[in-house]
Amino acid sequence: MPLQGTALSIILPAMGLALSMAASNAAIGQDAQTLTTYDVVNPPPCTNNKGEMVRFIERNGERSAMAAGMAIRDRNGQAVIFRSNYAAAPPEFQRFIDRHECAHHQTGDVDRPHPPRNSPEHLMNESISDCVAILRLRDEEGFDRAGFSRVAAAMRHDMAKIGFPEISIGSRIGNIDNCYSKYGSPQDFIDGILKHRGLFQP
Ligand SMILES: [Zn+2]
Repeated sequence: MPLQGTALSIILPAMGLALSMAASNAAIGQDAQTLTTYDVVNPPPCTNNKGEMVRFIERNGERSAMAAGMAIRDRNGQAVIFRSNYAAAPPEFQRFIDRHECAHHQTGDVDRPHPPRNSPEHLMNESISDCVAILRLRDEEGFDRAGFSRVAAAMRHDMAKIGFPEISIGSRIGNIDNCYSKYGSPQDFIDGILKHRGLFQP
């Protein structure tokens, strides 16, 4: 039962995103002149669905005003997360990005075939990772409503800057709000996803 409830409540916001994101892939804006910088936070523990430890690696090459993360396996097959330009984001949002990327490892996304960009499957994976991230911040870092609001504000700021329409921004924030308010522990949620995918190992 938790599984079905979980799947349904993720599908609805993800579909909203799917409808609205397709038309809005504007390029990332450059405004390096007006950069505010923040201290970069320490990464959280992260282990993938196979029990492998995930390493976080700073990669601040390109000059972008936007913090971003990427969850992949490196050339040697090691599970890693690249952190780009984290100093551009407030600490709460850095923590969110770390956990969002970690969730792509925890749920097995990284080792599954990549769904097409902006397909419902892709947006579903993003909604799931967003949900895990906010649940970890709530349960492991003690984020209260004020903490949640700072994450949401930074998310809104960055998405608006890239050119996402309000409907996409609202849908994504609505998803994490729903997770934050209604869902149980991050591990239970992840286990439900893994079971659904046939990847669960007790
Ligand atoms: Zn993602």
